Amino acid sequence: MATTVGVIGGGQLARMMIPPAVELGVTIKVLEETPGMSAELAATGVGDYRDLETVVAFAKTVDVITFDHEHVPQHVLRALVDAGVPVHPGPDALLYAQDKLLMRQKITELGLPSPDWAAIENADELGAFLDAHGGRAVVKTARGGYDGKGVRIVDDRNGADDWFTALAEDGRGGALIVEELVDFVRELAQQVARRPSGQIVAYPVVETVQKGGICAEVIAPAPNAGSAIAQAARDIAVRVAEGVGVTGMLAVELFETRDGRVLVNELAMRPHNSGHWTIDGAVTSQFEQHLRAVLDLPLGETRPREAWTVMINILGGPAGASLQSRYAEAFAAHPAAKLHGYGKESRPGRKVGHVTVAGSELDSVLADARAAAALFD
Ligand code: ADP
Repeated sequence: MATTVGVIGGGQLARMMIPPAVELGVTIKVLEETPGMSAELAATGVGDYRDLETVVAFAKTVDVITFDHEHVPQHVLRALVDAGVPVHPGPDALLYAQDKLLMRQKITELGLPSPDWAAIENADELGAFLDAHGGRAVVKTARGGYDGKGVRIVDDRNGADDWFTALAEDGRGGALIVEELVDFVRELAQQVARRPSGQIVAYPVVETVQKGGICAEVIAPAPNAGSAIAQAARDIAVRVAEGVGVTGMLAVELFETRDGRVLVNELAMRPHNSGHWTIDGAVTSQFEQHLRAVLDLPLGETRPREAWTVMINILGGPAGASLQSRYAEAFAAHPAAKLHGYGKESRPGRKVGHVTVAGSELDSVLADARAAAALFD
């Protein structure tokens, strides 16, 4: 069995893989982008994940490669695969997390439900889509967006001209994506894990609340998600995982519509913010599950430990102060709250930690989690 996992990228997702690696007795090594990142504790090197030589040299020190993010270029991933390095998820799957246009095409090809969408290359095409969709739509860049950057609501055919210009200047050309503006009731996320040998397990579907394009709160399981919604979400994620051959954790971000449908918004092929609740709230955390999956070990039980688990992101953190400066007050007032700090400096809008509370009554769990998280504002 491979016993040294190499993680490319030193962010908080890599950081949160460290405790389960220690518990499993598996060695974890991290290639961080700059010194002192969130996963510094397991960093064995600093380097550019876009540089083939750097990544190949790192891969030589580990048995399997996985990721903190989805940005490693395809040519680097393919060179690793050609050199015989196990890469999970592999380039053929990661492609659909790297490029939203390819993702939309694939989801449609798999017969799974998306918002109405089109690839557009100019203002005329955007105008035609707007005309057919009530005058408003969402435009997205295919690559490079995260946390709502690269996503824009437009009501004017010229509303994406700057992005068309940037694409043309980039020399690579290509298209933007336009989607119907979904009037969703709420956003959901469905996580599954898949091993290279094919085993798949699913977590309960969760509700995610976004503020300004950034995940703010997660409620697990999603309240009032009847069995039809839960089953639909699960089926979609399993079909995506099998359809694109994901290995490791997959998160499918979903919209629940007023008429009870579930539409695919986005894919993430790594542990995901919507699954941080699993650290304290599920029998097997998404981070342990990811390690098991990339090592092709039998997957763990996904069952929640309590009826309800609420995870609240700490966005920004206390201005000019560390998270730790609030520990004494927060821990005294909220002994059931579990605080996870990412070792990052406070900065407006930045994800610097999260709080999780689990229990039997949703109202009190939510209130406790929100009040505890508020002490870190
Ligand atoms: P990112 O990759 O930056 O996370 P997403 O594609 O997930 O971008 O979009 C960010 C947020 O924008 C979503 O969580 C959702 O709130 C909103 N959004 C995205 N697409 C649509 C859509 N077609 N209709 C309505 N809202 C959308």
